[in-house]
Amino acid sequence: MKSELILTNPTVIKNLMERHGFTFTKSLGQNFLINPSVCPRMAAALTSKTVIEIGAGIGVLTRELAKAAEKVIVIEIDEGLKPILTETLSVCPNVEIIWGDVLKLDLAEIITSPVSVIANLPYYAATHIIIQLMESKLPINSLIVMVQEEVAQRFAALPGTKQYGSVSVATRFYSQPKTLFKVSRGSFMPAPKVDSAVIRFDLFAEKKYDVDENLFFRLVKAAFSERRKQMCNPVSKEFSESGISKETVKSALEETGKNPLSRAEELSVDEFAELYSVLMKGLST
Ligand code: SAM
Repeated sequence: MKSELILTNPTVIKNLMERHGFTFTKSLGQNFLINPSVCPRMAAALTSKTVIEIGAGIGVLTRELAKAAEKVIVIEIDEGLKPILTETLSVCPNVEIIWGDVLKLDLAEIITSPVSVIANLPYYAATHIIIQLMESKLPINSLIVMVQEEVAQRFAALPGTKQYGSVSVATRFYSQPKTLFKVSRGSFMPAPKVDSAVIRFDLFAEKKYDVDENLFFRLVKAAFSERRKQMCNPVSKEFSESGISKETVKSALEETGKNPLSRAEELSVDEFAELYSVLMKGLST
């Protein structure tokens, strides 16, 4: 019976693909999950009854979500998967598929009430998709994503570590991240060259920092652009037209209780926000 197809079984996947004339598109990051323990663990991390899944593949995670949630909306770019998903999701009346590119669709039309967004993300666009969703201000209460392990480490990194960078600051600006579990490369078909990890971001319901986000992230990105150097150099270069000199940055760092010779990797997001306030106060007086 169709409803009993085991979608983590490589023979079943090959058979489905052959019957429907489907081939993997590497550029779309099509590595499908074949480890049966992963989808239930991802579904167990949901925080909302309405779920948005990005990238259904053959529907292996979608089916698990359909059991755990009231409503699942899937966004899938590859229409070549239509015949397969019609078959594999025929048993899931609470699943709706929207065909399109998650980076181009108007998500405000799709996400109209609180949701969890969940995905085994394509590697090529994982960071871009995560940051775009965080910045969107849509009612997303959690984001549960599988990404390359290295990328997960960067997202969850704390100040003072090698992985800590502007992406780590962005994550903690918008959310509380938590790495849930690792997933080995052998859990996918075809197997990628790297291991993965599932990370959950609990997004803040209210804006936590009172800053102009464009200016704030200009400051953060400039500070990390020469991460081995004292941040007063790149930051003063970035804001030179606003009259911010190296000395201005150094004294602003001092005012926030930091060493004036600090490098970007030594500042937490709270400290970046304090530095921003001191620098902006100087500009407006
Ligand atoms: N969820 C399935 C699984 O775990 O086996 C598939 C995961 S696979 C890593 C990524 C999926 O995202 C593919 O089905 C791919 O076609 C889809 N995809 C890639 N880029 C996309 C985009 N920009 N918008 C929507 N879906 C995308």
